[in-house]
Amino acid sequence: MDFTSRLLQWYKNNRRELPWRETRDPYKIWLSEIILQQTRIAQGMSYYHKFLEWFPDVHSLAQATEDKVLGAWQGLGYYSRARNLHHTARIIANEHNGVFPADYKSLLQLKGIGAYTAAAIASIAFGLPKAAVDGNVTRVIARYFGIEEPVDDTAIKKNIEETAAALLDPRQPGNFNQAMMDFGALVCKPGKPDCHICPFAEDCVALSEGMTQKIPLKAKKVKQKQRFFHFFLFYWPEKEPEFLFIEKRKGNDIWKNLYQLPLIETSGPLFEWQQFDTHPVLSKILSQQMSLSIKGTPEKYSHQLTHQRIEAFFYKILLPPEYYSIFEKDFAKRRFGDFAHMGKPVLITRFLERNKFILP
Ligand code: SF4
Repeated sequence: MDFTSRLLQWYKNNRRELPWRETRDPYKIWLSEIILQQTRIAQGMSYYHKFLEWFPDVHSLAQATEDKVLGAWQGLGYYSRARNLHHTARIIANEHNGVFPADYKSLLQLKGIGAYTAAAIASIAFGLPKAAVDGNVTRVIARYFGIEEPVDDTAIKKNIEETAAALLDPRQPGNFNQAMMDFGALVCKPGKPDCHICPFAEDCVALSEGMTQKIPLKAKKVKQKQRFFHFFLFYWPEKEPEFLFIEKRKGNDIWKNLYQLPLIETSGPLFEWQQFDTHPVLSKILSQQMSLSIKGTPEKYSHQLTHQRIEAFFYKILLPPEYYSIFEKDFAKRRFGDFAHMGKPVLITRFLERNKFILP
């Protein structure tokens, strides 16, 4: 049996039963593909169901406010996926009469849909013969064929894409792509692959040459930037507080349009109170000479993004209600219960949950 037949046979016996595999509706397949980028299936599942419940079709997603979409997405991270999802829903609803384009090139034109996602939608929803190549597929091909060169090298990448295209069964492209994804996730795993149960064990080059731990090789090291965020929670009273003050993130930075506690970013981990001056609103507030009482020492949380590591410090500050009116001019005053449902960085959720300001 050739590679493709063995793979499809394996898939028949081992495929994961997933709700988006019961449909060929491009809206549902698109949703699942976007949610599952950088997200494990176990975590993404509840979001998939929530999105279908809140936005059952592309029109309802298009008509929703961005705040509502970001609120539904909160906790999943990589919020640009949610913003792109919303943007693309509006394009499909307004420019394509709510109908998904049924060809690969048009799908690629849509925001948030790259080569992998376009191929996944084209093959699964429309039965088009396009191989979807992601990290899982790259790993399987690199190991099976014993590709020892860096898989992020442009020429090697192209070679892997062509190999995937040649292996694809044009009669069942959707099944082929999903089989590759499942096989890479369940057997030919990133760490230690389960070669003892692998249908390709007899002719896998990486296995026969003892290279399964070395392949796939990557050349480029991603540069990491470290950032230091100081968040301030202003509230009253200490027990069972009702309100907090938040601001909306602006500019072209991470977490765009999400809500956060008032923030000051510094170049290092230390924070000096004079640095309040660097915040356009907090500096004004400080000049009112109010007596604020800081509770305990700041709590530290870390968060890893693809190219950035965020070190966040949270300061709890008791703010007597007579000062609320000054804060309300520039910050949004919200109940803790309402803020729990708004789109915000996961770091802030962790801090508020750990301190029992909101429930998990
Ligand atoms: S034998 Fe091992 S390394 Fe080779 S394809 Fe199978 S699981 Fe992957």
